[in-house]
Amino acid sequence: MKNLLGGKGANLAEMTNIGITVPPGFTLTTDICNYYYKNNLTLPDDLDSQVSNALKQTETIMKKQFGDETNPLLLSVRSGARQSMPGMMETVLNIGLTSKTIPGLITNTGNKRFVYDAYRRLIMMYADVVIEKAAGRKPKDGEGIRHQLEGILNSYKDKKGCSQDVDLSGDDWKTISDKFKIQIKDQLGEEFPDNSYNQLWGSIKAVFKSWNGKRAVNYRRIENIPGEWGTAVNVQAMVFGNAGKDSATGVAFTRNPATGENEFYGEWLQNAQGEDVVAGIRTPNPLNESTKIENNKKALSLESFLPEVYKQLDRIRTKLETHYTDMQDIEFTIEEGRLWMLQTRAGKRNGPAAIKIAVDMVSEGLIEKEEALLRVSPGQIDELLHPMVSPEEETTATPLAKGLPAGPGGASGQIVFTANDAEVWAKNGKTIILVRDETSPEDIHGMHAAAGILTAKGGITSHAALVARGWGKCCIVGCGALQINSKDKTLVVSGKELKEGDWITLNGTTGKIYNKKLKLIDTDPNSHKEYAELMIWADEVRTLKVRANAERPEDAALARRFGAQGIGLCRTEHMFFDPERISAVRKMILAKNEEERRSAVMKLLPYQRKDFKGILDTMRDLPVTIRLLDPPLHEFMPQTNKQVNKLAAELNISPNEVHTRINNLHEFNPMLGHRGCRLGIAYPEITEMQSRAIFEATAELIKEGKNIFPEVMVPLVGTYTEFENQEAIVRQTADNVMEEKSIKFEYLVGTMIELPRAALTADEIAQKAEFFSFGTNDLTQTTYGFSRDDIGGFLPGYLEQKVLTHDPFQSLDQTGVGQLVKMGVDKGRSVRKNLKIGICGEHGGDPESIDFCYRVGLDYVSCSPFRVPVARLAAAHSVLKNT
Ligand code: PEP
Ligand code: MG
Repeated sequence: MKNLLGGKGANLAEMTNIGITVPPGFTLTTDICNYYYKNNLTLPDDLDSQVSNALKQTETIMKKQFGDETNPLLLSVRSGARQSMPGMMETVLNIGLTSKTIPGLITNTGNKRFVYDAYRRLIMMYADVVIEKAAGRKPKDGEGIRHQLEGILNSYKDKKGCSQDVDLSGDDWKTISDKFKIQIKDQLGEEFPDNSYNQLWGSIKAVFKSWNGKRAVNYRRIENIPGEWGTAVNVQAMVFGNAGKDSATGVAFTRNPATGENEFYGEWLQNAQGEDVVAGIRTPNPLNESTKIENNKKALSLESFLPEVYKQLDRIRTKLETHYTDMQDIEFTIEEGRLWMLQTRAGKRNGPAAIKIAVDMVSEGLIEKEEALLRVSPGQIDELLHPMVSPEEETTATPLAKGLPAGPGGASGQIVFTANDAEVWAKNGKTIILVRDETSPEDIHGMHAAAGILTAKGGITSHAALVARGWGKCCIVGCGALQINSKDKTLVVSGKELKEGDWITLNGTTGKIYNKKLKLIDTDPNSHKEYAELMIWADEVRTLKVRANAERPEDAALARRFGAQGIGLCRTEHMFFDPERISAVRKMILAKNEEERRSAVMKLLPYQRKDFKGILDTMRDLPVTIRLLDPPLHEFMPQTNKQVNKLAAELNISPNEVHTRINNLHEFNPMLGHRGCRLGIAYPEITEMQSRAIFEATAELIKEGKNIFPEVMVPLVGTYTEFENQEAIVRQTADNVMEEKSIKFEYLVGTMIELPRAALTADEIAQKAEFFSFGTNDLTQTTYGFSRDDIGGFLPGYLEQKVLTHDPFQSLDQTGVGQLVKMGVDKGRSVRKNLKIGICGEHGGDPESIDFCYRVGLDYVSCSPFRVPVARLAAAHSVLKNT
């Protein structure tokens, strides 16, 4: 029905069917809109007679006639697309007022003021919507006809010395209407039509045309609404909320859309038309006594002013909820004590409200658990996990710039430009945002201290983003508009200069940046009773397991609290940056021979054993995938002269020698260079040390009586032989440790599939590998040939020009990269039927990618701790949607 009648039309018809009174009328379908565009802006031949017939029925019900001198009917013409596009298309009200009908209406209502007020509103809307916009006239900003007519009204009021519309009389509105008509003729060269039918058809066509108006087209582009849908047009008898003291208009939600509380929540205005409520000209009153708050407690509620009408409205509320089994957003008008419903639709709600409403409706017997799960979007779960920028404050603020939304939630803070400053300021109790051109692993401490992170370069999977997301930190990357001067501690953006200490606010969910402090709303999922319930239902339904990417025991513990069923990726490289360890790492890299290297590497063993013990212990009873060292070694190299000198002294060589060795390590393209398993193959001691640390930690924990399941993962494998090489070292080390400690333990050795060649030869690799984990960050990078660290430079342009529809590092490219994943799964399982397969790239936390993983048969997804609840719900949705 909605496809043909539009949302509004379908719901009006539905309300009529269930016995709720709506102003009578009819709907011109979306098919007619499409016909109109396909046939050179002409309407079907038989439409005229169909409209006449429908109009006759409306006239009979209302006992009034359209265009009649003595008893005229007035009409409204409104748009209504399949999906609500609030305020994006046009409406014309009070159609049918002409020099012929006005006297009759004045006699019938005995209210000249009311009639001329309605008339001037009609003239204004008609001139704006039909004569100007629909005719393709494009005045400059602030010079449109509506603006001009408002100017006339304001200067009339000034002259009369009255500030409010209510101070004007019927004669005043008549004079103003005449002035309006003259202005329209002068400015647009067209008469305002003095014929009811011309007004009606002019309005119908204008509403069809508004489907392709600038606002609507832009909105559709953002919301991905197809242009072929078209809009319906609803023609209805006018009812008047401004017909006197016993008349009113209002909007309401059948439950509170901000909290989900089962209370009737809304606003109303006495003696007013609907547009007065939404336009915010007057402050509306609360609907009832129970939802009054401190600052409106003296205002008159509809419940106490018109108790009978309120009761009737409350009954309709129940009827609508029972019928639609969802929270509704309604509009109503009361004309001289008689209630009319103008609209009902599923009400928009925030995350916490969505969860509460869905769970409550199950206990009220309105919907089933499965439906409740589908009523909450994964993004709405996310709202519970991060502080958010207050939507109220955000709508009135203008963003300074926009970057890539890399870590969701909101953060406000004073800007600093170095990681060290971040740490110092934070220690002094300041809330700070770390602003960097890009971040390097050396910035980790500053990132941790910051409330939010903003970078000019990088993509969604760049280092800053990965780390920030892991901590649940708000983060925006790749904001090319920023010109950062870290030396002067300034930042120039959109012509504005910001200095160290200036306040900014980041919305990491949308990527928007504001140069002031906006309010943040705190969130705590555990304080939300219904959240826990919904999550239990999700777990009952889903088949995909959800693990977390975590590398510290604290993060693992958090992941476990969020419901993670294991660790899918423990990256070990960040463990090497600790000041106590970095010098051993540097010595290892710069070692001249194997002996020197072995001695340096083995210094790291106790540290790593402790790291792994912590994480394995936290995750006892659950599997933990630990990845061997992955990044290019030069990332660990000293950056400053001071660091070089220190290292030279420790190695007993000259600083020059250190420089030479560093230069020898230089790579033109480190991402495709000496990294991943290539490190372990060149320096087997590293693999040996890391495996030993893992297995010794395992042995110790098992001796303590714990169930420990380590899974050792080899990164960046492209050939069977690479895996074979590393696997041999890992297994040999496991055998050694078991023998030394006289203990047996279970473990797996598997690999990441993150290079196209690994996917293409997955059947070979799976002969040896006991599990696969798709590293879709690198797989996306190497399949597209897009550098994950540099995509911020060109992605915004790509998105704008629609070369790409989305960032492939954020949501898996199912047609391209996804095919490699599918091939990897099929080939892998062709030789090892029960091959355990997961994904640990950032896509593991993206609902659409999770759905893909479900469809190609993965066993688990792994994502940052803060995404775990989101992934649990998304995995449940996959089951419900795909069966
Ligand atoms: C990947 O490439 O998808 C992955 C998880 O590894 P990293 O991001 O550490 O390269
Ligand atoms: Mg990788």
